[in-house]
Amino acid sequence: MNYHFLALFLLFTTVLRAQEPAADRIQQHIEKLASDRMKGRGTGSRENAKAAAYIARYFKKYGLKPLGGDGYYQHFTAKVRRVVVPDSVRKAANVIGFLDNGADHTIVIGAHYDHLGLGNQGSSLAENPQGQIHNGADDNASGVAGLLELAQYYARNDVKEPYNLLFMAFGAEELGLLGSRHFLNHPTLPLDRLNFMICMDMIGRYNPERGVGIGGYGTADAWPEVFRGVTAGIKFFTDRAGNGGSDNAAFYAKQIPVLFFHTGGHPDYHKPGDDPEKIDAKAEAEILKLEIRLIDNAMKLPKMIFTPVK
Ligand SMILES: [Zn+2]
Repeated sequence: MNYHFLALFLLFTTVLRAQEPAADRIQQHIEKLASDRMKGRGTGSRENAKAAAYIARYFKKYGLKPLGGDGYYQHFTAKVRRVVVPDSVRKAANVIGFLDNGADHTIVIGAHYDHLGLGNQGSSLAENPQGQIHNGADDNASGVAGLLELAQYYARNDVKEPYNLLFMAFGAEELGLLGSRHFLNHPTLPLDRLNFMICMDMIGRYNPERGVGIGGYGTADAWPEVFRGVTAGIKFFTDRAGNGGSDNAAFYAKQIPVLFFHTGGHPDYHKPGDDPEKIDAKAEAEILKLEIRLIDNAMKLPKMIFTPVK
């Protein structure tokens, strides 16, 4: 093999091999989704649809099978309830891609991609929200970046895992978990085949004093075994409750075990200042590596049995 051939060979193998979650790609995804051009990805907006198309493009690039009903898209109608606005009834969609390993059961990995748009849908915490771009870098471009990185990793790692993986970007979470609830009431694969759900919502503002919170630890007896001996490049703690915070609550209500990753609140929460330059992408990469370790451990075990948390 001459030198040029070797260089070409190395180039091809590195291009196609799965890569560990990386800060530069995370930052790129977040800058794209949370730029001013995306106008806060409010449900029903053109920019919200552009965000969905961005996600679908990566699902396709990574070779995921479309499982939305209309390709990767699962359309539904979302209603704004908290405030009276002329466009209360809005078009929304989940984006759904499937990594089919031919297994009996499936692990769900999810993050919502909508945010508050221009502050006209009732949950902004800004003093005069109307007309201001709520970029939602942490909430939840960070979770979508995590979703895409995990899809990239599992789709390209040349391992046929003992579970299938369902990657879902939810619409209309900010209007009350509407996308995840829509999926659970109109599932595109049988719910009794789901093992557990991993939810990422706001994982971009790592605070080394607090650490990453992982909710849902009490939703299956198997979680302590999954976590046993697992270490990470960031600090983390577990919390038994699984029925609050984000789309994981909708899965919990259907008696599906969950884990919910969250780096905690901050002064920019639901305000126009939730911007990409405040994201700690390096820490997010470490959070995603921790998620991979946990998912890989969980895949060594049989399908989990849900336990309610009192
Ligand atoms: Zn959120």
